[in-house]
Amino acid sequence: MRILPVLAAVSLSTVVVAAPASASPPTPALGPTATGYGGAVSTVDPTATAVGLDVLRHGGNAVDAAVAAAATLGVTEPFSAGIGGGGFFVYYDAKRHRVSTIDGRETGPATMTSTYFINPETGKPYDFQEARVSGLSAGVPGTLATWEAAARSWGTRPLSRLLRPAAAVADRGFPVDATFRQQVTDNAAAFGQFDATSAIYLPGGQPPAVGSILRNPDLADTYRLIARKGTDVFYRGPIAADIVRTVQHPPVSAHPIGTWAYPIRPGRLTRDDIASYRVRRPAPTRSDFRDLTVYGMSTPSSGGTAVGEALNILEQSRLSGADVTQVLHHYLEASALTFADRGRYVGAYTPQWILDRLISDRWARQRACQISPSAAMTKPVPPGDITASGCTPAAVGGPTEQGRSTTNLTVADRWGNVVEYTLTIEQTGGNAMVVPGRGFLLNNELTDFNFTGTQGDAPDPNLPGPGKRPRSSMSPTIVLSGGKPFLALGSPGGATIITTVLQILVNRLILGMPLPAAMAAPRASQRNTAGIQAEPAFHTRYGPALTALGHTFGPDTPELGAATAMEFTSHGGIIATAEPVRRGGGAAGVVHPAR
Ligand code: GLU
Repeated sequence: MRILPVLAAVSLSTVVVAAPASASPPTPALGPTATGYGGAVSTVDPTATAVGLDVLRHGGNAVDAAVAAAATLGVTEPFSAGIGGGGFFVYYDAKRHRVSTIDGRETGPATMTSTYFINPETGKPYDFQEARVSGLSAGVPGTLATWEAAARSWGTRPLSRLLRPAAAVADRGFPVDATFRQQVTDNAAAFGQFDATSAIYLPGGQPPAVGSILRNPDLADTYRLIARKGTDVFYRGPIAADIVRTVQHPPVSAHPIGTWAYPIRPGRLTRDDIASYRVRRPAPTRSDFRDLTVYGMSTPSSGGTAVGEALNILEQSRLSGADVTQVLHHYLEASALTFADRGRYVGAYTPQWILDRLISDRWARQRACQISPSAAMTKPVPPGDITASGCTPAAVGGPTEQGRSTTNLTVADRWGNVVEYTLTIEQTGGNAMVVPGRGFLLNNELTDFNFTGTQGDAPDPNLPGPGKRPRSSMSPTIVLSGGKPFLALGSPGGATIITTVLQILVNRLILGMPLPAAMAAPRASQRNTAGIQAEPAFHTRYGPALTALGHTFGPDTPELGAATAMEFTSHGGIIATAEPVRRGGGAAGVVHPAR
């Protein structure tokens, strides 16, 4: 979102906690980079960052601040985040020197089968948009359960208190910026089919004007109801009933705004599906890069194994001192190899030995030996054979990819705890249905399953199944040096999340850029397709040299990702960064700014 001076911060502090507003040091305008100490918050949105900083200033820890900021993003970034969706929370506990994760990914209905997205009338898969704007695409939301699990396990405040500032923002409203308006405009046809959605986001039948104040009193009431009664109202009570009704009987308007090209189909989620939702707490993925340890999210996200595998391949390539073209060439090749393996092997139920193998140095050697410094491989490349050793063997089956909205936040506190959290409702605007009377959009996360097999004769690890979680690309990543946090980062962007996180790490760790420059640098994404998806500035700057090595570009894309990141320097220093330009720029803030 656009960078605004944080007028909200002072008044928020009166809402968040009992301490008088005057106890807070003045909050400077939040830009994309802030340096200092005492804790920090980086999100895509100044209001959410201000809320998180306020919690830190009043003695909350990183988990408290992350939950309060995420709840605020549910108001101000409702098309990417919110209690109708899911996500992955990675936490470094400074006292225990341990990285833990929460898997808050959505689950499919217990009745879901591998042909869930095949139209029974035609025997063919639904078009993506037809599946998306339907009850079929909505999984059981995991976000609220994630907040509760995080707050209970590691926080110092009850969830009820952490929801309050977000409820206040929803009541008071926030200024619409150009990014927000554009997101509505892009989704107006879908939103216009549902009165509950258009009542909030299409006031007067139009996307809200830039600078207008958008309020969401239903969401404020929902947050307050949860705060009063606990998360059972959502998973077992009246909100669960409303979610099921919305999914099974999509509340299509009698007077839609605009036209939608597809029938809007009901889904099959039940009260039991929602009541039986549990977060998982998988061990993080762990791999080494030089003398650093890289922790990421395990399945059902493919983020941790993919970032780890690609970094391992790059480590094999011995790139220190290499010129920028060679580094980028290897980055693109390592990424293509990794995506081939991800497509072939990684899904919710991948056995642990395969995941371990994929981020082992032995596997990296087996894959890295296929990269030539002088010629790009023909894409798509086949996946490696997980049961074989040596350089050449390829497994059967082939790859494909698709592309999407989400949001990411990074929080650290004065005690050295760090949270890296990516949350989403999948597409910008999820399945386009606001649950009537509740003020939040439902996700369309189940369309992250492959609708049909993508691996030729080999099994596809990401087909739908009963109660299954769709594979994700979300890659919240924490890098330790000598056992202490060194970097934390993550991004939205569908499958490009993996390459965005990887490229920022390549920029920082191999090319030696300072973190803000590593973040700002133009991006490209090679996900094992014929053409590299690149931002125009990347294509212009590096295209000629990479094309000479045999890389193919296209189609270009205006921007990839909307990352947030932090670097932890000596003596408790923090460099907090967000995007300077992408998605209108983000907002980073520190508790005590460096002078
Ligand atoms: N649903 C996607 C995933 O889990 C994220 C969508 C996005 O970031 O745009 O991988």
